[in-house]
This record gives sequence, structure tokens and C-alpha cells, in this order.
Amino acid sequence: MTRTTVDFGIDLGTTNSAVAVLRGVEAEVIKNNEDADTTPSAVWIDKRDKLRVGRAAKERSESDPDNTAAEFKLRMGTAQETVRFAASGRELTPPQLSAEVLKSLRADVAQRLGEDIEAAVVTVPAAFDMSSCEATRAAAEAAGLRFAPLLQEPTAAALAYGYQAADENARWLVYDLGGGTFDAAVIQLRDGEFTVLNHRGDNYLGGKLIDWRIVEELLIPAVRTEFGLPDLARGSARWRPVVNKLKLHAEKAKIALSRGNSADIEIDLDDGTGRHRFEFYYELQRADVERLAEPLLTRSVNLCRKAIEEAHLGSGDIAKLILVGGPTLSPYLREHLTDPERGLGIPLDFSQDPMTVVARGAAIFAGTQRIPGGSAPVAVAGGFTVQLEYPPVGPDREPLVIGVIAGADGTVPAGLNVELVNSAARPPWRSGKVPVGENGAFQTYLFAETGTANTFEIELTDATGTRRELSPNTLSYTVGAVETQPPLIHSLSVGLADNSTVKLIERGAPLPARARKRLRTAAAVHRGGRTGLIRIPVLEGEHARADRNRIIGRLDITADQIERSVPEGSEIEVTLEIDASRMMVARAYLPYLDTEFENVVDLRTESLPDPAELRRETDLELQRLADVRARHKSVGNPTSELLLMRIDDEQTVTDVQQLVDAAASDPDAAVAAAQRLRDLRAAIDEAEDELMWPSLVVRAQEMLGYVRRAVDDVGDDIYRRQYDQLDVSVREAIDSRAPDLLRQRTGELNSLWRRVLDHTGELQVIIFERLARDRNEMLDLHQADELIEEGRTAVRAGEINRLRMINTRLRALFAEPPAEPDPFSTIRSA
Ligand code: ADP
Ligand code: MG
Repeated sequence: MTRTTVDFGIDLGTTNSAVAVLRGVEAEVIKNNEDADTTPSAVWIDKRDKLRVGRAAKERSESDPDNTAAEFKLRMGTAQETVRFAASGRELTPPQLSAEVLKSLRADVAQRLGEDIEAAVVTVPAAFDMSSCEATRAAAEAAGLRFAPLLQEPTAAALAYGYQAADENARWLVYDLGGGTFDAAVIQLRDGEFTVLNHRGDNYLGGKLIDWRIVEELLIPAVRTEFGLPDLARGSARWRPVVNKLKLHAEKAKIALSRGNSADIEIDLDDGTGRHRFEFYYELQRADVERLAEPLLTRSVNLCRKAIEEAHLGSGDIAKLILVGGPTLSPYLREHLTDPERGLGIPLDFSQDPMTVVARGAAIFAGTQRIPGGSAPVAVAGGFTVQLEYPPVGPDREPLVIGVIAGADGTVPAGLNVELVNSAARPPWRSGKVPVGENGAFQTYLFAETGTANTFEIELTDATGTRRELSPNTLSYTVGAVETQPPLIHSLSVGLADNSTVKLIERGAPLPARARKRLRTAAAVHRGGRTGLIRIPVLEGEHARADRNRIIGRLDITADQIERSVPEGSEIEVTLEIDASRMMVARAYLPYLDTEFENVVDLRTESLPDPAELRRETDLELQRLADVRARHKSVGNPTSELLLMRIDDEQTVTDVQQLVDAAASDPDAAVAAAQRLRDLRAAIDEAEDELMWPSLVVRAQEMLGYVRRAVDDVGDDIYRRQYDQLDVSVREAIDSRAPDLLRQRTGELNSLWRRVLDHTGELQVIIFERLARDRNEMLDLHQADELIEEGRTAVRAGEINRLRMINTRLRALFAEPPAEPDPFSTIRSA
């Protein structure tokens, strides 16, 4: 069978994957070799280098953890650290591992349908950042899928529910809780078109976290006391096999609890030396699991509320909550979600299997995607070809079809007619004869039946009324809901030297999107120099403070890339482009050199977070949290109360701590810890901002006062104008109660102050005094004293340029010249 549309959809899950095919208007799951709908996303390689995917591999992760890999999706696009399979010595990256899962699903298709597919839609969590999407595409290519459009999982689920409800107008919330990721998407279905109105997600929230909680809070403590093993811990390398085994059994018991009130865990454990073996028995109670899952569910509900609020809606506007993902099979989750207090008060819909609904939705979407680069039709001798233009799927029952007819020799005789016929319709439907123009073009409307894939024969007749051969001689069209342009999930911005951001593309913008901003360089780059660069961090996220967002790439222009030195303050134009599958290109244009630097964004993201560094940063944040709490006690208000309570309810602190503990031996945990730490930081920021606001305002107002005095003293019009502008914008920030904005504008005020002081010469004096104070740390004290003496004279004489030179020479006298920090960014606003 030759397909013109993709028709196959794959849910490449963290825990489980599935593939489905579109048949008519129904998407069917294709079972694997074991007759199961889903295939665990796990890989096992034995010592003979034989590779297995699926259940066998997942079960091996217990007895043979050194030769198995699972849950690698969480690491897609993060550090490309490889997984090493000990026995075979093979090393595979997360995209390579995902490729093996995809190959296995392709093989299932080949076995069940006899089709060797080269195109399939692959779903990704809406929360996936761009490098993860890029990695997914690479995986698809490595698995032999030369065409693999990406689709967001919540959209896929909504399509599965709404495909044949094209006449319904409604808003839904897709609640997708998987093994490791959570997505909440507000979806609007209107006149047969889906739009994602808003989305919130968390890449580190899922059933797996419940498993870990069971292991860490119940099973490990029980094993520790029962068998006297005080060093048994998640992070310990020695106990890794035991901990793995506990986790696997925890998951099984948890799943069993979706059907009962208690589940038995019975495991044979040994300490790896073979000397100690224990039989461990534990009765897991449903109530315990409920308690452990509670904070995770709270986090998910908070994200749903945010998603709804940000779309300017209330829960009353949402007709139903669509449940997706394995954990939604559990009764306590459903109770939590329907509970009037803890939940959302939106009716649930789980009429489609939550484990396969994403794959089926992906197949439906695949039916709307034409396979590109198909071979052009060839006409038989005396026959004709037709090139058609129309959507394969659409909400419209009467879509327009445009075609161009050509003869085998490329010519078009006069007097041709086409007629489209749907003989399966009752009664059969005919378009009537449609004349073909001189250039071979024709156009007509179809009339399609709903609830089925319509096939229309295309009948071509010549001037004498004789039927002529045509290739292709059919077309098909289905009435169904389609996705409109997918939205951008996280805003894209660039970070500036003052740690503020400039947004280029807002979240929610329909894709593809493109934006350009004019900025200025904040440091000079000298051609041929060894240091100095123009560094533009490209960020994903919503935080006003640049370093609170995720760096997804950097555009660096280094000294060896430029033809002439580029002075500080040069104009630079930054362009970002992103397509529907979230592939991004960044460009920078420097008018000063008339040169464009293209594609320099490096999408290999930061290396794996360092566990020791994570711990240090976590300690700092906990200290900050304690300070914020103390401040709250004295000057708190209801808003700060609420913000601090949310940190407690979601147990963010416990989460970070547990993940940091585990990070030492578990790279997944390290990645998760880094993410949670960012969340914690942002949550503390929010509370801190709330509490610091009054003093921020006071500081800004004081600063306005003394900068104004300095500007008045100088009496220079340029400074005065700059001051007047800043005065307005600082007050604006105060009126709009925007702490980050105020901080940024106070920062601008501060740099204006510096410029004024530099103008009057005071700045060099201040610098000189600071340097002179550290005289004892200088290498050559004799020379230091001479320079300081000379400097004093220059100060008295008001010789500022001389002082500037002396300052430079003094700086060179330090043993370790204060190291130039690796700049975060060297651009500023225009
Ligand atoms: P993913 O999208 O990450 O591949 P799935 O939707 O397949 O994830 O969900 C996997 C998660 O669902 C696992 O954490 C698994 O333990 C959990 N799960 C599967 N079935 C059940 C069940 N009946 N009750 C509770 N949790 C379940
Ligand atoms: Mg999933």
C-alpha cells in the first residue's frame, strides 16, 4: 500500500511507548510481539551484544541494572552523557536509546501490517524544551524515520477525544501524568479546529516520583532496621542493585493498589557479595501511597489552576478534564481531582484508555500530514497525471480541491473535463463535469460524508467524451478536527549583562515564529585578542531575572571571528526563528562589520549538573528561604503567607533535598534536582519580592534623589534627558508593582550615576581609593607606593586621565588580577 499521508503515530514515553495507525476515522493501537498495547521504554544489552527492548529489558533492570537503561527520555537533550552497558562495553546516548525503542515499534508495525514505515508522527511532552525536541528528532532519524513531525502530547490526546466531534465547541483541560512528566493543557475546540490556549508542565513530575517516595520513606527505612544496614541509601553505589529492586517492586505494588487496599511486597535481597541474603516482606497500604502521592498531586493541581487562570478562565469554563497517563488509572488520583477542595471541580473523562490515547491521537494527526518528497505521478502513454492541492483532513464538509492536469508529453489538449465521484456514499455523489483550463488547472468543491474516510474517484474525459487514464485516479478526504498552529510553550528571550532579559518570542505565540531585536554590545572585542567576546545567551522561560531561566544555547562571537575590533556599545541585531516542531535557529547581525553570524547557537545544553555544586546551591537557597521566613514573621502579609505555604504544600524543599542526595550516583536525579532547584529559587524569589517590595521602593526613590542631585551639579543636557526618562520609567515600575522591572531600572539608574561620576572624574577617584586600600596585596610594594603617591598628586591636581592610567597600572600590580569572570552575557538593551 502506498500512503500519501503519514498515518502512523508514536507515543515515545518515558516509561511506556506505543504506536497506532489511522484506519478511516479510527486510530488503532498496533500491539507488540507480546500482544501488549504498550512497550516499556527500556533497553537491555547482554554480554553477546544482543539488544532487547521492552518488558524483558525492564524486568532485567532489577537483576542486571548494569546492563539496562530506562527512563532515558528525561535526559533527552540534556547532557549527552552516554549509558554504558557493562557486559558488552557498548555506550549509547539517550537519543540512541530512544532510537532503539522506535525501531522496536517499527518492527511491530512491520510484523503486524507488513509495512516498513519511514514516516511517523512522534509525540513529545509539551514541557519539553527545544534541545529535547531536537534530540527526539535525531532519535527518529536514527531509527529510520526520515519524516517525523513532532506533536505535543496533550494535543494528541485532545485530538483523540475531539477528532470526530468537529461540530462541538468547548474547552477542555488535558491532564497528563506520566511516569516522569506532567502536562496540563487548556484546549479550545471551535469549528473543528483545536487550539492550545495555554499550557503548564513539569518535566520532573510523575508516577516514578511516587515509586521513589515509597522506596525512600517506607521500604529503605524498613530494610535498614530489619537487617541492620545503616548505609543502605538511594545514592550509594554499593546498594544500587538492592535499591533498584525495591523501586521495581514498589511500582508493581503501587499499580496493584489501584485495585485494592493493600499489596504485598516480597523480595529476595542480597548485598552483592553473595554472603548476605535476606527475604524482605512488606505490606504496602493504599493509605500510605495516597499520603506519599498527595504533594505531587497538589503540585499538579496547582499547575492546572495556573494554566486555567493564565488563559483568563475559571474552572467553570472547562467542560471536562481528560485523563491521560498510567497514574490516572488510580482511584485516589481521581478522588483527589474531583474533590471540591483539593481538586478542580471539573468533570473527568477517561472514556479512552489513558495508556494509549496519545498514540492514537498522534495517528489521527498523522492522517493530516502529507509525506513529503513522494515520487511524482507518472502518466502511461496517452494518459495524464494530476497534481492535487487540498487538505487531507479538515472540519469542512465541502472543501475546495484544486488540481493541475498534464499529459505524458506535458501538453494539455483542449476540451478535457474531470468529475469527482464518491461511489461509496448513499446515494453515490458526483461533482458534475468540471472543465479543465488551457493550463490544465481545474477546481471544484467536494461533498464529504462525516464519520468515514471518503474516497473519490477522479474521472477524466476528453473532448469526445472518452475516458482517459489518469494517475493518481483517486483522492481521499476525511471530515475531522485539526490542530491549528501549535503555540510556543516557553518564551524565548536573550539574557543581558545586567541579568535582565529581552523577550523575543512570547509563550503562546503560534509557530512557526520569528522575531528580531536590536541591542547593543556591553563589552569591546578586540580583533586578534585572546579574550573578549560577544556573548548572547538564548533563554527559555518566563522569569524576569535572566539566570532563573534555562539557557538553551549561546551565540558567541569571538575575537577570531571578527575582521575589525568591535567597540563597546555597537549595535547588534539578534534574530530567532523557530518552526512548528520547535527547531530553532539564532542569528546575530553586526552592522558595524556588516556581517551576519549564523547558526552559532549551540544547542548542546549545559553539562550534567555537578552534585557538589547542587548541594552548595541548595544550601544557599535554604538559607535564603530561612531569611525570607524570618522576614515574613515580622513584616509578612497574606500574599507572602500564601507563597510560602505553596512551597510547603508542594514539599519542594524535601523534593530538592532527596534529589540532591540521589544526584551523586544517579544522573537522572541530578537533572531533576537542577530543575527543582530552579523551581525553589523562583518560588523564594516570589515571596522575597513580596516582602522586599517596600524597601525596594525606598531604595529606588532615594537613588532618584541623589542621581538627580549629581545630574544637576553637572548640568549637562544629555545626562538630564537620560535622567528624566529613567525617572519616568522607575516610577512606572513602582506603579505597576513589578519588582524585577524596578530592580532592572534601578540598575540603569545606577549605571547613569556611574557615567555621571565618570564625567566629573569622581569615579576614577573612587576606584583609585579602593585600589590604594589594598596596597598590601600588591606584588611590588616599592612601585605601588610610587604609583599611589603619584595618584594622590593627580587627585589633588584634578588630572583625571592621568589617574585613569595610574589605576590601570595599579591593577596590574596584583598577583592575581581580579579574574575576569566568565561573562553571562555581554549585550545590553539598545
Ligand atoms: P509515560 O508517559 O511516562 O510513558 P505512562 O503514561 O505509561 O508514562 O505511565 C507510567 C506510569 O504510570 C508509571 O509510573 C506507572 O507506575 C504508572 N501506572 C501504570 N499503571 C498504573 C495503575 N494502574 N495505577 C497507578 N499507576 C499506574
Ligand atoms: Mg505519556
